[in-house]
Amino acid sequence: MQNFAPIIIFITFIGLVGWTITNQFARTQIKFKSREDWLLDGIGLTIQGILIPLLQATLVYWLYQYLFPNHQGYLKLSPILTFMISLIVVDYLYYWNHRLLHSKLFWQVHQVHHTVTQMDVLGTSRNTLWTSLLIVYLWIHTLFLYLLADPTGYLLGVSLTSALDLWRHSRLMISENNWLYRFISPWLILPQDHAWHHCNEIYHCNYGANLKIWDRLHETYYASKELPSTLGITTSLTFIQKLFFPFS
Ligand SMILES: [Zn+2]
Ligand SMILES: [Zn+2]
Repeated sequence: MQNFAPIIIFITFIGLVGWTITNQFARTQIKFKSREDWLLDGIGLTIQGILIPLLQATLVYWLYQYLFPNHQGYLKLSPILTFMISLIVVDYLYYWNHRLLHSKLFWQVHQVHHTVTQMDVLGTSRNTLWTSLLIVYLWIHTLFLYLLADPTGYLLGVSLTSALDLWRHSRLMISENNWLYRFISPWLILPQDHAWHHCNEIYHCNYGANLKIWDRLHETYYASKELPSTLGITTSLTFIQKLFFPFS
């Protein structure tokens, strides 16, 4: 079995938590986090990191076995191609998925993610418990893992997407003067880009996960060298409502 995916994601998570603890600003910032937010984020990470992969490996996988009984391992594609599908094609699907979550109909299910008030890797998976069911990753990743004869390339793309998701929510910014910034900022969504998505004034921008091209293409890209001064929306939802039923 391909075990490298959870290892890559876990190492990225531990690395970013380690950086947060050793960085004075990030450490000070995290002290202002409320107990409710700690709990919300801990539950979110457990769901995203443990329960959703379990659900994918069981119920969703069984569903595809039931729907397409003769197609397990049916797709024989090269690992480079499946890596690209995972990193680019699924990224485009996610872009529209995320925009849909910002529509009138679905916003309330997504709003809990927007209550994070600081860039903080622990807040990456803050969500209502069942929001993942409405996210394309759950369904499409499992479908590809079911259909592909060799899912190595696809899984590498999934690992990279998850690692970038964690990084995008952290405060580990790359400085503008750094060569790496000049290399990746034209095409990759950076933490500073995603910070604007979490800004409480102009959050209808930067919906992308991995690549900037989708926001640029659909004119939702917001570029700024500054960080927003405040993050997070305010809601009147109680803790229980945030977890189970985010409708006010
Ligand atoms: Zn959003
Ligand atoms: Zn976010």
